[in-house]
Amino acid sequence: MTAINFAVIGYGGMGSYHIHNIMPNENERIHVVGTYDHSEERQAISSQHNHKIYSSLEDILQDQTIEAVLIATPNDSHKELAIQALKAGKHVVCEKPVTMNVAELDEVLKVAKETGLTFMVHQNRRWDPDFLITRELYKNQQIGELFQIESRVQGANGIPGDWRHELKHGGGMLLDWGVHLLDQLLFLVDSRIVKVSADLSYILGDEVDDGFIAYIIFENGSRAIIEVGTTNYIKLPRWYLKGTKGTGVIHDWDLSGELVIESDKQAIQAPEPIQAGVGLTKTMAPPSEEATETKKLSNVSAEYDPFYKNFYKVVREQAEPVVKNEEVRKVMILIEEIFEAAKKLK
Ligand code: NAD
Repeated sequence: MTAINFAVIGYGGMGSYHIHNIMPNENERIHVVGTYDHSEERQAISSQHNHKIYSSLEDILQDQTIEAVLIATPNDSHKELAIQALKAGKHVVCEKPVTMNVAELDEVLKVAKETGLTFMVHQNRRWDPDFLITRELYKNQQIGELFQIESRVQGANGIPGDWRHELKHGGGMLLDWGVHLLDQLLFLVDSRIVKVSADLSYILGDEVDDGFIAYIIFENGSRAIIEVGTTNYIKLPRWYLKGTKGTGVIHDWDLSGELVIESDKQAIQAPEPIQAGVGLTKTMAPPSEEATETKKLSNVSAEYDPFYKNFYKVVREQAEPVVKNEEVRKVMILIEEIFEAAKKLK
């Protein structure tokens, strides 16, 4: 097995996470030779890890020992870096969001096609355990057919960092966490989107969105609510799933949560009315004990290879990529639709 020699462009938060936390899991397949970062400070930190320090992008592109690059720079630089790397004969792993928009992505895909090199986007949250549980529920129908999928990430720390506050760098939360949640959704639901409504949030007064809510309707009738918030001091569950036979909740990345599934209909007794506020309700009363059973969530492993193992197989053995460029393109189209839909609410 000959490892793929990588150079990493952008040794910031995510570039260093790839090098120190993800790539080592595939150390027989992936070998990091060195890094290039605009910032001298980041170059100095990288040099402490015995990486070769490249002085420019050109320096990497001319290095014949480098077969592939990872692009982990702010979003507005992905297109140019990817095109230059591909034209120089390098395979490319690109961080999400792949580019600023569909038009930019098409330029990159054209060059990838012309060069015949691998261009693959790091949609890593397809391997998140909470997502894998949801995907399993979608497939095995343990709570019936999922007709409402609510996927949220919420925090109270505002928009992080510096460039994420600026439009010109592709800042904002739709292009940040939004990409992950929408990629998961489209990887999950095997149906065409027929309607998108959305609202972007500008509570913090930035020129970019600090969160959004999107309501997406699929041709098969299922609905999704996708929400990203950075002003939420109390969080809603990471996943709330309504199926035709039950409800599932995954509270957080710690995988706390449960499934409540209807039991045999024969056993259901009519619920007793309860006092609700100053009134009485049967509709909102909890179901009788015999009516439901509660189950724990069970851990699920991905049936596809980890990201870099797959990348290696795509490059060396012409395997199918787990993250396909057509899928990435559909996510970028959806993002553009969400931006457009949100304008209608203004
Ligand atoms: P960051 O600001 O921490 O790091 C970016 C680094 O790139 C900085 O060190 C900066 O000096 C350097 N840089 C900027 N332009 C450059 C250029 N043209 N050439 C070389 N170096 C350059 O940002 P980050 O959080 O690491 O984000 C980087 C990318 O990774 C973004 O596209 C972001 O969306 C993505 N990201 C993905 C995930 C994920 O889970 N997949 C998580 C975080 C970030």
